[in-house]
Amino acid sequence: MKITDALLTPNKYSRPQIPLKSVKKVVLHYVGNPKSSAMANRNYFENQKNGGRYVSSHYIIGLEGEILRCIPESEVAYCSNQANTYSISIECCHPDATGKFTDATTASAAELCAYLLKKYGLTVDDLIRHYDVTGKQCPLWFAPTKYQSEAVANARWAGFKALVSQKMGNEFLIRVKDEELNIRADVGIGSAVVGKLKKGEVYTITEVKIYGKVPWGRLKSGVGWVSLLPKYAERVV
Ligand SMILES: [Zn+2]
Repeated sequence: MKITDALLTPNKYSRPQIPLKSVKKVVLHYVGNPKSSAMANRNYFENQKNGGRYVSSHYIIGLEGEILRCIPESEVAYCSNQANTYSISIECCHPDATGKFTDATTASAAELCAYLLKKYGLTVDDLIRHYDVTGKQCPLWFAPTKYQSEAVANARWAGFKALVSQKMGNEFLIRVKDEELNIRADVGIGSAVVGKLKKGEVYTITEVKIYGKVPWGRLKSGVGWVSLLPKYAERVV
């Protein structure tokens, strides 16, 4: 992963140099300006210094996957509203009005998110959308709109998070020991059964959560979660 420094000139509008005391979340955005480059968006932030809007972002990822750093992680950026004081923000460029990222942008975004989450001791669930902070349709491709339902947007977002989880190196294999192991929609035995795994089968787990002292693993397919109690599943090494 290559990060290019293109730090903004300190100024009260886009780089006020307010210390970012702790990092609890990483927030993903889209620039909302189709075909614009990472540097063009960086320069837009820079140009606010002459008296403009309070806008900026720590990172911007371009259409070719290039990563620009505009604000050091030790400072607040004006990007995610009430989350500004406890988060790092990433803006992503996009080729058209759907807001869908290119494959190169997606790959770099996932890599940068994974790097930041690990660096600050966070989990993949600490990666959030601007939409999760304010309800704003940002990043557009991952937010409910008149073109896409909440279920579709959330499924896309879950797919991106699975990619980040993979980049975090959290994947591992399990072999089913139980005759039939229930797949549940969410963690916990109160959650609906959405499928079953058979004894001896091997699956990839992308994420682990502890629920009621029981470890649960998310299947890479995205279908759901299975109990990782040793009597049900063993880790394959
Ligand atoms: Zn945003």
